[in-house]
Amino acid sequence: MQTNFSAAQLADPHVAESEKILRKCVHCGFCTATCPTYVTLGNELDSPRGRIYLIKDMLENGRPADKEIVTHIDRCLSCLACMTTCPSGVNYMHLVDHARAHIQETYKRPLLDRLTRAMLASVLPYPSRFRTALKLAGLGRPFIGLFEKLPALKPVAAMLKLAPSSIPPASPMASPGTHAGQGAKRGRVAILTGCAQSVLDPAINETTISLLTRLGVEVVVPVGEGCCGALVHHMGREEAALASARQNVDAWTNAIEKGGLDAIVITASGCGTTIKDYGFMLRLDPVYAEKAARVSALARDITEYLAGLDLPEPVRKPGTIVAYHSACSMQHGQKITRQPKELLIKAGFVVREPREGHLCCGSAGTYNILQSEISAKLRDRKVKNIEATGASIVATGNIGCITQIASVAKLPVVHTIKLLDWAYGGPKPEGVSDKIPLAAE
Ligand code: SF4
Ligand code: SF4
Repeated sequence: MQTNFSAAQLADPHVAESEKILRKCVHCGFCTATCPTYVTLGNELDSPRGRIYLIKDMLENGRPADKEIVTHIDRCLSCLACMTTCPSGVNYMHLVDHARAHIQETYKRPLLDRLTRAMLASVLPYPSRFRTALKLAGLGRPFIGLFEKLPALKPVAAMLKLAPSSIPPASPMASPGTHAGQGAKRGRVAILTGCAQSVLDPAINETTISLLTRLGVEVVVPVGEGCCGALVHHMGREEAALASARQNVDAWTNAIEKGGLDAIVITASGCGTTIKDYGFMLRLDPVYAEKAARVSALARDITEYLAGLDLPEPVRKPGTIVAYHSACSMQHGQKITRQPKELLIKAGFVVREPREGHLCCGSAGTYNILQSEISAKLRDRKVKNIEATGASIVATGNIGCITQIASVAKLPVVHTIKLLDWAYGGPKPEGVSDKIPLAAE
C-alpha cells in the first residue's frame, strides 16, 4: 500500500513503525473472511482491511481520532485471526495497538464510557480490588435487567452477568517463594501469577506448580510480579501497560540473576502474547529494551514448555472426549496450535476440534464487557460448534475463554493443564463428573 507520511511524521518512531506495516498491506482482502467482526457484521469497516484504511487515513493526516474510527477500532477483538490469514505478513497487532494509543490520547469518549474504562483499568489488574468487586457484584445482580435496557449501562450488566456467584479463596501458592522439584532436577522456571486468573481460578496455577514440581521442575514465584499489562494495553493505556511490563521485567530479571531461569511459564495465553511482545513494547526504552527482549525470549505457554520436557507415560488414560478450544491469543497471537492437542492425546484424551476454530469466542479481555452484543453472538456461535463435537469436556488455555464459554455451555470448561495434571496423577478437575462418557462408549 502506498503511503504519504511526511519526513517530520516519520521522525516519530511509532508512526515510522506503523508506516512500515501499512506498506506491507496489498489490500487483497483475504483477511476479511476470517475476521469475526466482518463475519458477524458484514461491514468492510469492521474488517481488518477496512480498519487498516481508517488507521492509515487518521495517522497520515495527523488527525485526532473521531467517532467513526473509534467505533470500528473498538469493535476489533484484537483476536489476530487476520495476522494468521494475511499472506503479506502485515503486523496488524502493532498497528492496532498504535491506533488504540492514539485514540486514548486524542479522543474524548462520552462520560459513562470513560468511567467504565477507568474503572476496568483500575480494578481488573489488581487481584485484591478485583476480588472485592466480585464480592460486591452480588448487590448489583438483581438490577441486571434494568441495566440492560439502558445502552450506557450495558457494560455494567455484562460485568454482572460474567461475575461468578462465588469465588475461591486466594491461593497461598501465589505468594513469592520457590517450589522445589521432586527427584532429579529437570529445570527451573518462573511462573506468572497474573491478575484476573489468580482470583477467578487460582487452581490453574496451583495445578501447574504441582505438575511441574512432580516432573522435577523447580518453580519460582518471583517477588514483585503483577498483571502483564494486556488489559490496559488493549484499551490504549500505554503508560499503564508499559509500567506493568517494566515491573515484571524487573521481577524476572532479578529471578534470572539469582539462579537462572529456563523459562517464564504462563498459563493464560492472553498474557503470553503480551509478554512475548515486551521486547517490542519497550524497544525505545534504553534502560529496559535489552532486559525486556530477554524476558520475551524466555516466555513460554505452559503447553509449549511441557511439550519440550519429554513427559513420561501418564498414570491414567482418561479416554474422555475433549473439545479443544484454541484461544485466539494461543493460535493467532503465539502460533501455538500443535502442542496442547498433542499433550492431551498423549495423556489419553480423545481430542476433537470444533468447526470454525479460528473464530474468537468473543471474550477478548474486556471486549465481552465493552462490546457485549457482538461478544454474545460470537460466544453462542462458538458454544454451538463446541457442543456439536459431542465432547464431554472443553479444554482451553486462557481464563477469558473459560469464563466466556462456561457462561452458557452445558459441559464443563477447564484449563488444559488440569486435564494433563489429572492424567499424570493429579486430582480430577472440579466440575468434571465421575460419569463422564468415554470415547468408546
Ligand atoms: S490479508 Fe494482509 S495484505 Fe491482504 S488486505 Fe488483509 S492485511 Fe492487507
Ligand atoms: S484482530 Fe480480529 S477482529 Fe480485529 S481486525 Fe483482525 S481478525 Fe478482525
